[in-house]
Amino acid sequence: MDVDRSKSFDADDSFKLLGSEIRLGIVRALGETWGPENRDPVPFSELRRLVGTEDSGQFDYHLGKLRGTYVRRTEDGYRLTYPGVRVYQTLEAGTFNERATVEPFDLDATCFGCGSALEASYRNHLFRIACGSCDRQYYKYFLPPGQVTASPVAELLDTLDTALRRDLAAVVSGVCPSCSGAVELAVGPEVGCVFDANDVLDVAASYDCTLCGSHLESTVGGALVAHPALVSFFYRRGVDLSDRRLWTLPFVHDESRTTLRSTDPVRAAVTARCDGDELSLVVDGGLDVVSVEGAP
Ligand SMILES: [Zn+2]
Ligand SMILES: [Zn+2]
Repeated sequence: MDVDRSKSFDADDSFKLLGSEIRLGIVRALGETWGPENRDPVPFSELRRLVGTEDSGQFDYHLGKLRGTYVRRTEDGYRLTYPGVRVYQTLEAGTFNERATVEPFDLDATCFGCGSALEASYRNHLFRIACGSCDRQYYKYFLPPGQVTASPVAELLDTLDTALRRDLAAVVSGVCPSCSGAVELAVGPEVGCVFDANDVLDVAASYDCTLCGSHLESTVGGALVAHPALVSFFYRRGVDLSDRRLWTLPFVHDESRTTLRSTDPVRAAVTARCDGDELSLVVDGGLDVVSVEGAP
């Protein structure tokens, strides 16, 4: 496969291009105009009207600066390029400018360590689920402020659960959910920097993107939540795992359900229970399931 990178340019320059109110106005106007009802490019005069710039020459100058990076000119007008779409989406989600804080509130779920109620809170762009009593941390995860301020609590918790499952599915498959780069994964007693602080897990999984540096961690049970053997074990017994939120699943968060059997080679077993039956999945250091024990 031949890859041509000759049209790439400096990352610093690409951000500098956005340093103008008119240029951000152009990105916003093109993003807002485009939708299911309208896929047409926006003509110059219409775009200038939407941005509200009187001076045609000044507007043309700024539009020219965006052309080729964030904006593409076609015969019928202008549209956003893919980087332009990403800038528009980030602006709309409030990631760069909005700030929101949600004080801790109780969830309808209990801590597997001490039995107290779990609490959720939001601060510094991170949604956190933790135990209010023993301070055990379950999740600390990015959600955009725009989503947090717009959603009722139940919807927000569903969003978090879905985002976690989506990102877990990606990293377990070796793909970064942020940039689609290659992910290096590790399973063992000495991996990660978040769960270790809790001092309760014998073994965890961590995922590092080799392209953007994104870092994620999960329990071994969390990494297996979509594994067909586990999904069908529960489904046969009338439980649809996708209906349960991750922080309520014992095989994901009860540390007594995950055992480090050996370190060289790494073997970790996760045990699920349902209707008096038991199923254990044994994984190696690359998260591959090497054996399935118990009732199917
Ligand atoms: Zn607790
Ligand atoms: Zn990445």
